[in-house]
Amino acid sequence: MLQVIGDPILHSKSPIIQSTMLDHLGLDIPYTPQWVKKGGVEAYLTWAKDHGVTGFNATMPHKEDLVPLMDELGTEAIQYGAVNTVCLRDGAWVGHNTDGDGCLDSLIYAGMWPARQVVLLGAGGAARAVALRLATGGAERIWVCNRTLSKAQQLCQLDPTGVLTPAGFEPKTLVDVCTQAQLVINCTNLGMDDCPHQFEDFSFLDALPRDAGVMDLIYHPARTQLLQQAQQRGLKVSNGLPMLVYQAIFSLEYFLGRKLPRQELAQVVFTKLGLI
Ligand code: NAP
Repeated sequence: MLQVIGDPILHSKSPIIQSTMLDHLGLDIPYTPQWVKKGGVEAYLTWAKDHGVTGFNATMPHKEDLVPLMDELGTEAIQYGAVNTVCLRDGAWVGHNTDGDGCLDSLIYAGMWPARQVVLLGAGGAARAVALRLATGGAERIWVCNRTLSKAQQLCQLDPTGVLTPAGFEPKTLVDVCTQAQLVINCTNLGMDDCPHQFEDFSFLDALPRDAGVMDLIYHPARTQLLQQAQQRGLKVSNGLPMLVYQAIFSLEYFLGRKLPRQELAQVVFTKLGLI
């Protein structure tokens, strides 16, 4: 059995995404949501072994908590300091992180990659995975713009390539960096359904070239104000669903221990989700 754990968990799209892929591959493996409260992952690991769980995905608030509990960690999980995919191998828990790879493939799918200069908004968990993956994915410069500048600086210090550059989040700073960029990726909570805050203004979008892309990691709502504003300006847009789908494909490869037909699976899931 495979699972996804989180709190809250019932809103998770992972069961429909993973079940669609398992069905398509002709595999009779159940994938179910499991509510696990903050601080409950250690107990869950014991329960999971006793109940035949051979792998699971983790979402908020467990991604960081899982790191010290793993018997082994993949390179990305170590680098990002977070785990979103866990496999049981010969009785040992092995933790991976597929967020960075999922984001890169979703940018390629959206026709937004390669991009030489990138503005990345936010410096939280998702931003860390995306920034560090894109830093080795061909970008020349990535500005990590965050409300709390010290967090952007800490994130950039993790980057051995020197591509990441910390910056503030004031409207003028965003305009300045956008004049030099071809891609903006929102990794903040701004615009999310249950977030009470919104961008102060969207004038930074006017500073982008006309063929630039704007990706929002958020997918609730499907069209954030950021994406609406970008679309009104004729920019390419994508929400966070393709990233969710691609990171799930990488997870399934870890669960099954083999390479899968990624584009075929992505098309099957996009059709199921009504994205195409
Ligand atoms: P997180 O670690 O809590 O980071 C939140 C980020 O948002 C921080 O950089 C924070 O800035 C910024 N922020 C929050 N409120 C703000 C405000 N009022 N003004 C300016 N900045 C603000 O969260 P996360 O796990 O990185 O997730 C971020 C978003 O990505 C969420 O919407 C999540 O749903 C989405 N996500 C999507 C996927 C996907 O597959 N599509 C995967 C992972 C995450 P400070 O540092 O200043 O607090």
